[in-house]
Amino acid sequence: MTGAVRPIELIARKREGGELDEEQLRSLVMGMLEGRVSEAQIAALLMAGVINGFTTGEAKALTRILWDSGESLDLTSLSGPTLDKHSTGGVGDGTTLLVAPLVAAAGGQMVKLSGRGLGHTGGTLDKLEAIPGMTVGLEPARMLRIAEQVGCVVAAQTDRLVPADRELYALRDLTATVDSPALIASSVMAKKLASGASTIVLDVKAGDGAFMRDVADAEDLARLCVTVGQDAGRTCAALVTDMDQPLGRRIGNALEVAEAVALLGRPPQGRLADVALELAALALSEANARDTGARAGAQKVRDDLVRRWERGEALERLEQMIAAQGGDAKVCTDTDRVLPAAPVIRDVVATAGGRVRRVPAREIGEIVARLGAGRARKGDDVDPSVGIDLEVEVGDDVEPGQRLARVHARSEDDAERAVDAVQAAVEFGDDGQARAVVLSRVLLG
Ligand code: URA
Repeated sequence: MTGAVRPIELIARKREGGELDEEQLRSLVMGMLEGRVSEAQIAALLMAGVINGFTTGEAKALTRILWDSGESLDLTSLSGPTLDKHSTGGVGDGTTLLVAPLVAAAGGQMVKLSGRGLGHTGGTLDKLEAIPGMTVGLEPARMLRIAEQVGCVVAAQTDRLVPADRELYALRDLTATVDSPALIASSVMAKKLASGASTIVLDVKAGDGAFMRDVADAEDLARLCVTVGQDAGRTCAALVTDMDQPLGRRIGNALEVAEAVALLGRPPQGRLADVALELAALALSEANARDTGARAGAQKVRDDLVRRWERGEALERLEQMIAAQGGDAKVCTDTDRVLPAAPVIRDVVATAGGRVRRVPAREIGEIVARLGAGRARKGDDVDPSVGIDLEVEVGDDVEPGQRLARVHARSEDDAERAVDAVQAAVEFGDDGQARAVVLSRVLLG
């Protein structure tokens, strides 16, 4: 019986490049939760796996183990196709605020469990909590009610979902073992499977501000996530999208809500709108394929979404969702009066002219976090009002003296530091050329 193999022997097998089966991995991971296996042993296993690689079979097994460690949301009572999306995290990535109401407007139902920001990346919950009154800690029954009535709800993941992932992630964070495709895929997909949707779309970021800097690595991660999701019986597809520069123009919690509201109030335009439309179209067309067995054109679905967007249907859904979650829905009509504003706003001005070559996502995210919008440690407070409005993107031609950005800060000192940092971060050069925002698609099967 493999359960009888001692942890030390399993760790040694992984150290020698061997493969562990599900029962063996389960005995280790659950052993840690139950106090039979030490954190030091799990840390050694993780490091051996990061160095030697985990197989696809191990990624699938780990996903099931993490998923089984807690409760799952049961969405089967909902009447429409249930859709979910996940982004691997980026800067100015407010896609959830657009995708959730968009799919709701088109008849889908999205119960989106989100997280808080950490480090240079923002978190959807922090953005939503910039709206006065907004509640993200919802009981499942209320989530289902809102999803049925409005079509979308965005809430905090409870501690009862995938508790083993929380423990394992904390250990990975301390032991430089986060950057493993199998560990990332199992962590992400266990949460998505526990969230209950039949169709899951992933937005795997590639570039300077992403986990995966390289497009090929991001594609590998996307394929692994899709494989793991399909293995669990879900319909799953992914986009690989650019995170070399921030996705949206406004970075910071309230600023990103304001950007989403403004975008939904006019015809879709720009990189953020593009990614949101592509994700929503992919989710709806894959859900349709799940029901009918045939892949109908995502382009047709996208055209329909554009029409709904232009008619204001998505903005209406966002407004309804905010109201249903206790938030001040006037944020959708009187945005600046409702959202908190920073006391100091300063311009960043180009000292010379030229073509913008780089707007580094990670650096911009870190500047915004230092302004107070992000957290260095889990549990830190965030300031909803601070951030950066970018007024240029890669490939733009800029005149000397032109405004590059606006800094929203808590104090003159913070503003001054951020202005200098943004000025130093934005690079100019004749070869400045934006790459496509959607870099590739991963559709398997
Ligand atoms: N996001 C997750 O949820 N898990 C990871 O391992 C990495 C990113």
